[in-house]
Amino acid sequence: MAVTTAQLVDWLERYAGVIAEQKQYLTGLDAAIGDGDHGINMDRGFQTVLVKIEPVKNKDAGTLLKTTGMALVGSVGGAGGPLYGTFFLRAGAALDGKSDVSREDLVSALEAGLKGVVERGKANLKDKTMVDALTPAIARAKARVQEGASIGEALSSAAEAAETGMKGTIPLKALKGRASYLGDRSIGHQDPGATSSYYMLRTLSEALAEVPQGAKTATS
Ligand code: ADP
Ligand code: MG
Repeated sequence: MAVTTAQLVDWLERYAGVIAEQKQYLTGLDAAIGDGDHGINMDRGFQTVLVKIEPVKNKDAGTLLKTTGMALVGSVGGAGGPLYGTFFLRAGAALDGKSDVSREDLVSALEAGLKGVVERGKANLKDKTMVDALTPAIARAKARVQEGASIGEALSSAAEAAETGMKGTIPLKALKGRASYLGDRSIGHQDPGATSSYYMLRTLSEALAEVPQGAKTATS
C-alpha cells in the first residue's frame, strides 16, 4: 500500500512533538560533548517546519519534504540543522511530484537524504554522528522491503536498527563535528545527533504503522 502525503505530515508532526518533549534531554547530551544547543536547534527548526508546511499539506510528498528541508536550512544554525535540512531537501527531491509513494520510493528517498548528509558532512561510519544511526536503519528498511515486508514493518525494523546505532555511539571517540574537539573525552557519551535521528526513524515508523485513511473503508 502506498504511503500518503497525510502520513508524512503525521510523521513530521510526531517528530516535532518528540523533539519538543526531548529538547532538554538532547541539549544535555550536547552539553556533555558539544555546545549544548542540539535540542534548542532542532526544536526551533521543527517549530518552523510546522508553520511552513501548513500551506503544502495537500501537495505532493516531494513538495512537503522540500518545504521541510528549506524551513530547517533557513531557521537552524550549527551543524545539525543544515545536515537535517539537506536530508529533507534530498529526500523531497527524490519524491518530486509523487502523492502516492511506494515502499521502494520511500526507501530511495531516505537513501537520497542520507547520501546528502554524508556528502555534506563527510562523516564515515563510527565517527560518532547521526550517520551511525541513519546508515544501519535505512539499510535495514531497504532489506526488509526487498524481502517483501510492508513499509510499516520495514520502518519498525529500521527504528530498532537506529536505536542500536544510537547506543553504539556511546563507546566511540568523535571524529567529526564539535565533539571531535574533545578527543578521547568524547568517549562514553551518546551522540545527540544520532539520538535525534533515532527519534526521526521511530516517529516515521509510528506514522506508517497506522492504517491510512480510506484503507479502512476499502476493507471493511
Ligand atoms: P553544532 O555541533 O554545530 O552545535 P548541533 O548541536 O545542532 O550542531 O548538532 C550536533 C550533531 O550534529 C552531532 O551530535 C552529530 O550527530 C551531528 N554532526 C556534527 N557534525 C557532523 C558531520 N560532519 N556529519 C554528520 N553529522 C554531524
Ligand atoms: Mg551543538
